[in-house]
Amino acid sequence: MRILITGGAGFIGSHLCDRLLGDGHEVIAMDNLSTGNIDNIAHLAGHERFHFVKLDVTNYIYVEGKLDAVLHLASLPSPVDYLNYPIQTLKVGALGTHKTLGLALAKKARYLLASTSEVYGDPQVHPQTEEYWGNVNPVGPRGVYDESKRFAEALVMAYHRYHGVDTRIARIFNTYGPRMRADDGRVVPNFICQALRGDPLTVYDDGSRTRSFCYISDLVEGLIRLLLSDETHPVNLGNPQEMTILAFAHEVLKVTASQSEITFIQPTDARTQDDPHVRCPDITRARQVLNWEPAVSLDEGLRRTADFFRHRLERT
Ligand code: UDP
Repeated sequence: MRILITGGAGFIGSHLCDRLLGDGHEVIAMDNLSTGNIDNIAHLAGHERFHFVKLDVTNYIYVEGKLDAVLHLASLPSPVDYLNYPIQTLKVGALGTHKTLGLALAKKARYLLASTSEVYGDPQVHPQTEEYWGNVNPVGPRGVYDESKRFAEALVMAYHRYHGVDTRIARIFNTYGPRMRADDGRVVPNFICQALRGDPLTVYDDGSRTRSFCYISDLVEGLIRLLLSDETHPVNLGNPQEMTILAFAHEVLKVTASQSEITFIQPTDARTQDDPHVRCPDITRARQVLNWEPAVSLDEGLRRTADFFRHRLERT
């Protein structure tokens, strides 16, 4: 297949590029390099089936030649990023999804949207099933991300129903691994870098909120299975092993053999406003339809991720 990946220089996008090239496909990575990093795909330069296009998907996009699939991953997925760039976040979810759907329609290509567990907001159904409609504050600081993805899902379904575009929607839960940005503000890079530097781990509030962390190779496998499946309903992709953020901090300390302390802080900015209290995917649908479930343990995934950040920190 000839596949376009928007956000191709990002954390998840670049791993997808690697995997799809390895499977023998031709890949066009598109990225405006705002939060994506060219280092993530530098090793692919010169690959005969790889192309990179620096472009912002909120503008008109043009791709020469045939396309079999469009994977729309471009987004600002870290709370810190979408609080700093709220309008760009809305634009990439809304305009970027519109442009890429239009491209898929014109090329008769299959379309996959990278959606998010944030469509469930601060959930009142736990674990979250795909049938749950969510609990999102549209006017809160996180609303720019959540609503842009909810709009994106609605637009995907409209193109599917009205134009007959062959679409897929992946609801991606917290994912981690090498190539995350050290400074993206999310809990995984924050805690690992703090642990490696010997700085205190910054647990917000009392650390009782929960998340479920999925290793990148598991997520990529799920995305590819979804792309190749016939499932047009949204599918949760995430690891159902749920834990509190405090327990996660201890896990990071153990894996990195760090002597760092844990400090409880109350951010004064909007970072923790509307922060979901719990999050855990119900992956029954992914198990049934894709025959997929995560295989990499948290311990193993954190080791690999810590190795990556250790090298990064040594270089800086
Ligand atoms: N968090 C934390 N310390 C940090 C960064 C995040 O306690 O240094 C918390 C945050 O408040 C949230 C959870 O960890 O409850 C996960 O945050 P993250 O930004 O990774 O992603 P989210 O799941 O909120 O999108």
